[in-house]
Amino acid sequence: MENHHDCVFCKIIAKEIPSRMEYQDELCTVFHDINPRAKTHMLIVPNRHVATVNDVEVIDQNAMGKMILLAADMARKFSISDYKLQILVGKKAGQEVFHVHMHLMSVP
Ligand code: 5GP
Ligand code: ZN
Repeated sequence: MENHHDCVFCKIIAKEIPSRMEYQDELCTVFHDINPRAKTHMLIVPNRHVATVNDVEVIDQNAMGKMILLAADMARKFSISDYKLQILVGKKAGQEVFHVHMHLMSVP
């Protein structure tokens, strides 16, 4: 797996720092947000380091598609029928971690 040394999500993917990981395969990893803003708040990420959606390349399309399938899988696993999926792109949008990630947040 490609690992960017200063990237916290690359370190989580590589299990160099701990997380509450729910799922990992060759393309994607799912772990719980350290600062949850919903009863269930997970982050779904491609294993390959890509800073923002603006940097996604054709080689990333399988991982990007898999992220949607994983969102539905996780929602089923956690019995969440309604939820929000959010991808922030860029600092002004509020992106803080520059490794593409999709928030999965349950709604009350
Ligand atoms: P962003 O604003 O970039 O879309 O969201 C980044 C998210 O990553 C935030 O919700 C934040 O709580 C989460 N986060 C930041 N650092 C860590 C970490 O070390 N571990 C985990 N599990 N989540 C993190
Ligand atoms: Zn990264």
